[in-house]
Amino acid sequence: MAEENRNPAEESPVDVTGNLKSVEERIAAACRRAGRDRDSVKLVCVTKTKPLPMLEEAYRDGYRAFGENKVQEISLKKPQLPSDIRWHMIGHLQTNKVKQVLPNVVMIHSVESEHLANEISKQAVKLGIEIPVLIEVNIAKEESKFGVMPEDAAQFIRTIAPLPGMKIRGLMTSAPYTENPETNRVYFRNLRELAIDINGQNIDNVSMYELSMGMSGDFEVAVEEGATIVRVGSAIFGERHYS
Ligand SMILES: *Cc1c(COP(=O)(O)O)cnc(C)c1O
Repeated sequence: MAEENRNPAEESPVDVTGNLKSVEERIAAACRRAGRDRDSVKLVCVTKTKPLPMLEEAYRDGYRAFGENKVQEISLKKPQLPSDIRWHMIGHLQTNKVKQVLPNVVMIHSVESEHLANEISKQAVKLGIEIPVLIEVNIAKEESKFGVMPEDAAQFIRTIAPLPGMKIRGLMTSAPYTENPETNRVYFRNLRELAIDINGQNIDNVSMYELSMGMSGDFEVAVEEGATIVRVGSAIFGERHYS
């Protein structure tokens, strides 16, 4: 059936609770294979485009970390849901939206330009907060992706590290789309090695504790390679339909 003729009411309902259990089990198994504690990996449920009842179901199942890639969507959903949800900004952030998003999120995963970092710093100082951020790295050097190039990451971090109101906590990447998650193992490993390298440079105000990597198609491999945050959407909430 053509996309525009699809009647949403006829779609099979998504079993959010069942999907969360299965994702949970897969994360736990990947942790066991890698000899890691389950507690060393945080699952951020990526809720973009999904309706409130689905988010409420994940909330009832005990999940509190939700990820969105649009500032407007966070602003819309947040006031309608319990206040103890921790929102993560995972998508490309425009400078003119920083002021709006800052009070609503616990972490920004997508810092990748000085211009953006300066604005985050300026607005955070105004609010009197210190926002944890991750540096987005284009680890596979894809044309279509945002993020700093891996060879530029350390210098970029050294440049923005002194900015007040912002704490650099680690690196984030979106690996290439693939049918075979094993092909992304090298990218996750490279991101981890880059974090270790940067950590070794002991830059003031910078820690490399968090590695935000792994999505529905490849989160188990990412956990095996050291992810501390996995961002999982469609494996929990079903495919996204953009109209
Ligand atoms: C949408 C999105 C995800 C989740 O993608 P799935 O493949 O649905 O798990 C993770 N990270 C970012 C940055 C995203 O935009």
